[in-house]
Amino acid sequence: MTGQAVDATRTGGCLCGAVRYALSGPLRDVIACHCRECRRQTGHYLAATAVKRRYFALLRDDGLRWYQSSAIARRGFCAACGSTLFWDAPAYPHLAIAAGSLDDDAGLRLVVHIFVEECGHYYTPGDGARTVRGRDHGLAVPE
Ligand SMILES: [Zn+2]
Ligand SMILES: [Zn+2]
Repeated sequence: MTGQAVDATRTGGCLCGAVRYALSGPLRDVIACHCRECRRQTGHYLAATAVKRRYFALLRDDGLRWYQSSAIARRGFCAACGSTLFWDAPAYPHLAIAAGSLDDDAGLRLVVHIFVEECGHYYTPGDGARTVRGRDHGLAVPE
């Protein structure tokens, strides 16, 4: 069921362990963003779930650094190992979390590709999931 992923505490973190977090509420399905900023930061594109802020807790933030990547958002990454971790627009009631940083991603599905007009020439977004131009994916973050 789209947008109603498993409701259970999950943990995640970066490659080296200098950043760890816990998510105590339901997660949104995964969105792949092909915008230029996500492509630059990740080296390919960003696949991210999201959670309401009240369900998010940092367990360890020794390596966590933020980069203000646009007027509306900053990106969290590990300064020690370089892992992509968070996309954070303070005006939004949720935090986007790199799906690959989860310890256990069971139950999540990649359901939509956004900003496909900015994807690289070397691949085609698709794999059966919806594709949209721009940011309007239409998915709600579960309460
Ligand atoms: Zn790290
Ligand atoms: Zn993006």
